[in-house]
This record gives sequence, C-alpha cells and structure tokens, in this order.
Amino acid sequence: MKVLISADMEGVTGVTCPDDCEPGHPRWEHCRRLLTGDVNAAVAGFAEGGAEEVLVNEAHADMRNLLVDQLDPRATLLIGTHKPLGMMEGIDRSPHLVALVGYHTGAGEPGVLAHTYLPNSITSVRVNGATASEGRMNAMLAAEYGVPVALVTGDDLTCADALTYAPTAVGVAVKTCVDRYSAICLPPAVSARQITEGARSAVDRSHPVPSTSDRYTYEVEFDATHLAALATYVPGVEAVGHRTVRFTLGTMYEAIRCFRAVTRIVGTGIEPVYG
Ligand SMILES: [Zn+2]
Repeated sequence: MKVLISADMEGVTGVTCPDDCEPGHPRWEHCRRLLTGDVNAAVAGFAEGGAEEVLVNEAHADMRNLLVDQLDPRATLLIGTHKPLGMMEGIDRSPHLVALVGYHTGAGEPGVLAHTYLPNSITSVRVNGATASEGRMNAMLAAEYGVPVALVTGDDLTCADALTYAPTAVGVAVKTCVDRYSAICLPPAVSARQITEGARSAVDRSHPVPSTSDRYTYEVEFDATHLAALATYVPGVEAVGHRTVRFTLGTMYEAIRCFRAVTRIVGTGIEPVYG
C-alpha cells in the first residue's frame, strides 16, 4: 500500500499565528519541529497499518519547511517548488490513500489561520457552488486520480469541513479554534498519539472515491477591485462583479491549475498596506 501525505502548516499542533508559519521567522523555526512531529506521527500510523511506501509532499509556502533529518525513515520527502500539481504533487504516482496533514479552513470561514492560497486577499472561493477550502479542492483533484482522502488533521473546524468533502476520512483535531489567531492546543505528545491512531484506523476503513464532474466552475471573490481585474488577465477568467471572477474548465486538473495561475497573477498586485 502506498500513501501520499500532503503536509501544510497552519493546521499543525501549536501553530496559531502568521509568524508561526512564515519562513525565516524564529517562531517558524520552532514550529517546523512541530510540523515534522505531526507528519511523523501520521507516517508511524500508516506504517503500522501496513503502508509500504509513504511519500510526504511539502505543501506550505515555499514548500521547504519539514526537517528532513528528523523525518521518520519509513517516509520520503518531496521538498520544494515548483511542481505541476502543487500541494498534491504525487497524486499521479498511484497512491492508495491521501492524507491532508496540518490543513486549515478556507478563506472567509471561521478557523485558525483560515485562508485559501493567498493569506488575506481572497475572501471566498466556491467550486461548483460549494465553499471550497484547499482541502476540498485537493480532495476533488485526488478523486480525479481515483484516490480517496483518508485522514485530515488540523483544528476542529478543519475536521468539520473535511466531513463535508470526505465523509469517511478520519479527522484528528490537534487544536480547538477560539478565533483566527487563537486556539486551545493539545501538547505535541498527545496530538502525536491521536494522529498515529487516526492514521492506523484510516487504513482499516474503506473510503469510496467521490464522484467527479465534467465541469468545474470556480467563483473567486477578492477584497479589492484591482485584484479581480488582474485575475481576468488569465484567458477564460471573467469578471462577474467588481470583486468576483468566474471560470469553468472540464477537469479539476485544469481548474485547480487555473486557480493557481490566478493567485500568482493577483499576488503581484497586492500592495503592502492597502492590499
Ligand atoms: Zn499553508
């Protein structure tokens, strides 16, 4: 059995503020150890459950956060950008299951460090009418490759969100959201035990692959008009209001890559103070 772990950082044990996951910041240096701990806990559970291969794909910021010298030796680590499938690179290497570790809720939603791709400038993303966190989008992409999401870790609201797109996945809440930058956190020794147990039990469950669609319509709302205008530079992306754009593509592979292109272009137009 092969497992893919997509490892983000905002939903990791003890992580509650932007500095905790901002590369180069002293708090980030500390939280890299916590991220590595959560990932190792998942690797241990999958290995105990019978996984022969575990590929960990870095999925946060510049995708160079995990401490490879402290990684569980039963796993391998995909470090760095750029990669065609981004947060889900490796989903095309025929894993049986995917785990979303250290995930978070989507833009405009309650949850610790809630956002979708851009930290602040996107206020809402909907895909085929449903509010879409990164977890939902990535699960939809995984479904296109025939791979179910089996484990999700993050705050309690991230686990609740996961139930809406991967109802059979095991959710492990490593913290309880109080507000966007505050949470009641489990100590790493406790959350690690829970993640390991969650991963082990995720292997034993059967996880149906969600059905796919032949049309994926994204609606993305920004917090400023110029960002929506920038997004329309991408062919096929049209404005549907002063701050909202929409596009439709035939596969999730194309749609999520178009969304990533939109975030890259929009990112060039965000001013430091006014946004
Ligand atoms: Zn992240």
